Amino acid sequence: MYKLFSIFGNPVSHSRSPLMHNTVFKNCNYSACYTRTLLKDGTKLKETFFALGLDGANVTVPHKESAYEACDEIRGFAKKIGVVNTLINENGKLIGYNTDADGFMYAIDEFKNIKNILVLGAGGTAKALVQKFLEEGLHVSILNRSQARLSYFEKLDCECYTWENFALQHYDLVVNTTSAGLGDENLPAPQEIIDTILNNTRYVADAIYGKITPFLQLAKEKKLTCKDGSDMLLGQGVLANELFCNFELDKEAIKKEMQKSFQF
Ligand code: NDP
Repeated sequence: MYKLFSIFGNPVSHSRSPLMHNTVFKNCNYSACYTRTLLKDGTKLKETFFALGLDGANVTVPHKESAYEACDEIRGFAKKIGVVNTLINENGKLIGYNTDADGFMYAIDEFKNIKNILVLGAGGTAKALVQKFLEEGLHVSILNRSQARLSYFEKLDCECYTWENFALQHYDLVVNTTSAGLGDENLPAPQEIIDTILNNTRYVADAIYGKITPFLQLAKEKKLTCKDGSDMLLGQGVLANELFCNFELDKEAIKKEMQKSFQF
């Protein structure tokens, strides 16, 4: 049986997920195809998913929280954070998972002795990463443009700041999870704040991939060890592909084939 998958987002034209998953399907002889779907209204996610006859999907900005709402059942880490990036059609029921956090932990494996982390942004990706960092016993601070989304994090064991009341520390790692720099050339916070942050960290990671954001560019200019979101993308993609193929493919084979798509 031929399976059909898609990614939902707005914007979605930049997404590398179709290429990543299709490379695996093709090279592993798995009968499936992965497309992309521009979805403007997150409340239409479920009906669009079934109208397209999908077997599974990924969800990206800004619909990951709507995806959680749309599911009939949530499994694993997604339950803890209320954010879904992977959907599976299980006998007509929509099952939600989150593979972003584990994908990110895979990405920063090479960064050593991480104890104190600053997360820029307070959206769905930040929720996933912060909960994972706390599970790992790390000290976490969050800096967001506005107050509203911080309320979720204020209930957790971490420090929350807006640009107005930010208190600097020395960090091992700073992660940009905002969408600043994705479709524009904005920094995730005013330049004077970003400058002091980058002067007080060892490592820098950006969740955005496929372009050097102004944030990452600044980190590079300061000669910091940094990485864009490609490895996170790979990590979350491998885990999603295992779910799509119902664990019929070998994980190392998925990773090897998916990595090839990064060379195109
Ligand atoms: P959300 O829409 O849930 O959250 C966006 C966050 O960015 C909010 O905190 C928002 O702040 C902040 N923000 C948006 N614009 C600006 C700006 N101009 N200046 C400062 N802050 C801003 O997005 P997600 O968490 O789902 O995704 C965030 C980013 O992570 C995206 O760029 C996405 O592509 C990337 N990503 C990459 C992955 C990978 O595999 N590499 C996986 C998942 C995500 P406010 O609350 O004030 O609105």
